[in-house]
Amino acid sequence: MTSPFLNTYARYPLTLVRGEGHRVQDSEGRWYLDAICGIAVSALGHAHPEVTAAIHAQVDQLLHVSNLYHVPVQQAFAARLGEVYGGRLFLSNSGTEANETAIKLARKHHWLRDDPRAEIITLENGFHGRTYMALSMTPRDKYKQGFGPMAPRVRSLPHAEAVAAISAETAAVVVEPVQGEGGCHVVDILPQLREACDATGALLIYDEIQCGLGRSGELLHDPRPDITCLAKALGGGLPLGATIAQPAVASAFSPGDHGSTFGGNPVACAAGLATLEIILRDDLPARCAALGLRLAAGLEAAGAAVSGAGLMRAARAGTPAGPLIDAMRERGVLVCPAGPDAVRFLPAFTSTEDEIDEMVAAYAAALGA
Ligand SMILES: *Cc1c(COP(=O)(O)O)cnc(C)c1O
Repeated sequence: MTSPFLNTYARYPLTLVRGEGHRVQDSEGRWYLDAICGIAVSALGHAHPEVTAAIHAQVDQLLHVSNLYHVPVQQAFAARLGEVYGGRLFLSNSGTEANETAIKLARKHHWLRDDPRAEIITLENGFHGRTYMALSMTPRDKYKQGFGPMAPRVRSLPHAEAVAAISAETAAVVVEPVQGEGGCHVVDILPQLREACDATGALLIYDEIQCGLGRSGELLHDPRPDITCLAKALGGGLPLGATIAQPAVASAFSPGDHGSTFGGNPVACAAGLATLEIILRDDLPARCAALGLRLAAGLEAAGAAVSGAGLMRAARAGTPAGPLIDAMRERGVLVCPAGPDAVRFLPAFTSTEDEIDEMVAAYAAALGA
């Protein structure tokens, strides 16, 4: 059978048809413990009753009318999210779009001050998405090959060189507080980046698309950035991105400067609002921190070097990740890679200790196999 798709994904030999709680079922009826969560999306697991009820109610009420109008559920979601993060925001449909919005906002901010800086600095091992600016900010040659030219005035630097490179030419520094695709690395130079940005007038942007909303073990990362980008877990399983600007930069956009047909879709906002309320009500960032320690300790005891934070962890055991991931799947646990030698764990925030232990046991068995 020829594929109907353009050839962009190397998929696992697994067809998934259902999700319930922290498990997904394949077309043969077998259940798997989901330690990927759709790449850090399903923070509350699958078919969470409160999220599902919010989606059903909104589907019955209103699917889409565009951003030509006010929509109550979108306003309620934006108000709550803005209150938590202390800023005003733009809603889009994905992480890549959230980052693109942040760059436009940052450059316009400087342009309005008669200081039209263009330079964007990002970090080695970062990942920011696949459109041209987001790809230009992503220092991985494999993703860029054949797609040039990239956007000008974008530099990706080793962590040790980034702080000194920030200058009066720099419009913004974009950094993941915990790097995801690049291997689950905690970025420990955030205070130095903040200081250099303050000294030069550059804006500090946190790409929290993967590590955000509590997955890293913290809801808000310190020191505070000028702009925060969220997506993945934000829509409770539906496509939703947010670019949240602190008050000092929030006024840079005027009507017509930016827009999105689907951005802030009412159903996605209903799911996002229900998800956010549960994360806050049940103090899930603290739960991610505690479960993350248990996961890391278990993986280390199994013989791996572990990086990351909270429920965003990579295990390296000096062997290729691919065969380990296949062996874990055969044992009923789904994980994904974070580079050629790292197995990545992105479990649900609501995971139980027993489920964390089940993930560790599958990893240990795969290593021994
Ligand atoms: C996934 C990811 C993106 C891109 O998000 P999409 O929704 O796939 O466009 C950007 N930045 C980080 C840190 C990510 O993990």
